[in-house]
Amino acid sequence: MLNIPAAPALDGARHLHSGKVRDLYEVVEGPQAGHLLMVASDRISIFDFVLDTTIPDKGEILTRMSLWWFEQLRDLVPSHVVSTDVPEDVRGRAVICERLDMYPVECVARGYLTGSGLLDYRATGEVCGIALPPDLVDGSRLPEPIFTPATKADLGDHDENVSYAAVESTVGADHAAALRELTLQVYARAEQVAREQGIILADTKLEFGRRPAGGAASAPDGGTGGTGGIVLGDEVLTPDSSRFWPAEDWVPGRAQASYDKQIVRDWALSASSGWDRSSGEAPPPLPEEVIDLTRARYLEAYELLTGESW
Ligand code: ATP
Ligand code: MG
Repeated sequence: MLNIPAAPALDGARHLHSGKVRDLYEVVEGPQAGHLLMVASDRISIFDFVLDTTIPDKGEILTRMSLWWFEQLRDLVPSHVVSTDVPEDVRGRAVICERLDMYPVECVARGYLTGSGLLDYRATGEVCGIALPPDLVDGSRLPEPIFTPATKADLGDHDENVSYAAVESTVGADHAAALRELTLQVYARAEQVAREQGIILADTKLEFGRRPAGGAASAPDGGTGGTGGIVLGDEVLTPDSSRFWPAEDWVPGRAQASYDKQIVRDWALSASSGWDRSSGEAPPPLPEEVIDLTRARYLEAYELLTGESW
């Protein structure tokens, strides 16, 4: 079902893994050897299909957005970013980062109810074991932001929401508490930043890791004992990892407009695409105007959030 194209060969780097959107390499030559090189492609995925069509500049837009957020969050948690001095072929769309031992937990914070959280709530009245008030609808603001962890699924599978107790038994009570605390702190900060720009941060997914004990990259205080050495990894607060909604269009009780691939999803499901979702086939190539609108949407989110022009 997943049709991820082969990752390009890069000088001085060894390919390790390709996800739906990003290609991960290990730097094997030069002063950064041992670090990771994370490359964001222009690929776009909907309904777990990687499309044949790419969105020009998407990888660069999301990389720059993520770097901007890492900077905003610096005082809350260190990031894995080492350098943006990357091979010419991937300039602007890649970062060199510390290789961490990742916690096998997708750390999700939600301030609003939608997506898988809404499905769970409709089935049980709870999300990840957290009981919520009755009468919430799609897009409702929650009484307070909640930590709703998920397990990382294998490529092509969906992540699965789990209880906090499950996280405790996977990583230990101390680490679970630290991850929850950091996730909610990051969410609170980012939600406030976004709100000032007229954007609702409905939810976001973070991935944390630890510096490997005794590894070359470990700082004096990191990686040994306690929960102090937690580092924020992966990408942060991009439209691929988060739901951003224009605040002025927010109306609970329906699906919200969002700054991401909604245009692509809507087109794929419309009659004009000719795509049958139940066919098991990937959606057809995107028309030019859908590509342009989607690119414009990502750019708009970037410019609004960061206050920088592209
Ligand atoms: P999906 O397309 O569903 O996101 P994926 O998570 O396998 O699939 P990517 O997100 O492209 O694909 O891959 C990035 C991988 O790198 C993830 O497994 C993530 O946990 C891991 N990762 C992110 N930052 C680091 C880091 N600093 N050290 C080690 N691994 C990391
Ligand atoms: Mg991922």
